[in-house]
Amino acid sequence: MEKILTLDNIKDAAQASYEECKNISGGKNANYIPYLANVDSNLFGLSVALLDGTCFNFGDTDFKFGIESVSKVPTAILAMIQHTPEGVLQKIGADATGLPFNSIFALLLENDHPSTPLVNAGAISACSMVAPQGDSSDKWKAITENITELCGSAPVLLDELYESETATNFNNHAIAWLLKNYDRIYDDVDMSLDLYTRQCSLGITSSQLAIMGATIANKGLNPVTKKQVYNPEISPKITSMIASVGFYQHTGDWLYTSGIPAKTGVGGGVMGVMPGLFGIAAFAPPLDDAGNSVKAQAVIKAFMNKLGLGIFSGDTVKIKI
Ligand code: GLU
Repeated sequence: MEKILTLDNIKDAAQASYEECKNISGGKNANYIPYLANVDSNLFGLSVALLDGTCFNFGDTDFKFGIESVSKVPTAILAMIQHTPEGVLQKIGADATGLPFNSIFALLLENDHPSTPLVNAGAISACSMVAPQGDSSDKWKAITENITELCGSAPVLLDELYESETATNFNNHAIAWLLKNYDRIYDDVDMSLDLYTRQCSLGITSSQLAIMGATIANKGLNPVTKKQVYNPEISPKITSMIASVGFYQHTGDWLYTSGIPAKTGVGGGVMGVMPGLFGIAAFAPPLDDAGNSVKAQAVIKAFMNKLGLGIFSGDTVKIKI
């Protein structure tokens, strides 16, 4: 079936979904990272970015929250830019773990590779792959510049979050050293873990994340800056990873009920990618038991359902600009 949507259809669906979900309660801020426990749990924002550069924003879309695990997506892209998608497949993998984001068990089970750059183990491994090898400040520059190009504006380091996370990331230390044991760390272990921790501590807004999602949906061409950030062949690769593991052990449920590949972070952000159509991001700090934002999930699902969209629908969807 061919489906034609107007800009008004999209704006109205986003606004209605935002209004409908704004009073949803439930969930709790992440508390294993002290900084996150203290973020105002009433914050809520929804952003949609279309491929012509049109952006719709509702609520707290300028609030800079911790990007956390959504940062795994841009760094996986950077590793693909620098080492090719095949290189990332060989060195890290592209499989779902079916287990929580910080699972040591997942790494023990696989024992020779960390499964995917979208869980902690694979993300630490991806940070170790970032060129130039051995130079923390140049690696950091490459990581942040790549995020800036994908979003069209720079993220900022939330120093307090970085300190909070560095003081409490014992589980990630264990993962990093196990990776070393399996020869899946491609640079200094402590440096790779520090880069991962720092990238998780970047402050980002939902409007920036929606543009990142739209850049991925647009084959690497940032619809706002009009810059081609990466080779178009990377988009289907990163989107397949987001689709298979973006919600960790609940990815199947998510895809089944929302119809859109999306990546979550314990800062309360969710970034969705609808290939060829739009990027979407929502932010609200309270999380469910698996570490996924309750309200951000609800609002993105409401939006998809109102418009009757889904990557498996078989419909040809066009947005009339
Ligand atoms: N920095 C967090 C951690 O490594 C990210 C987890 C997440 O957002 O899922 O524990």
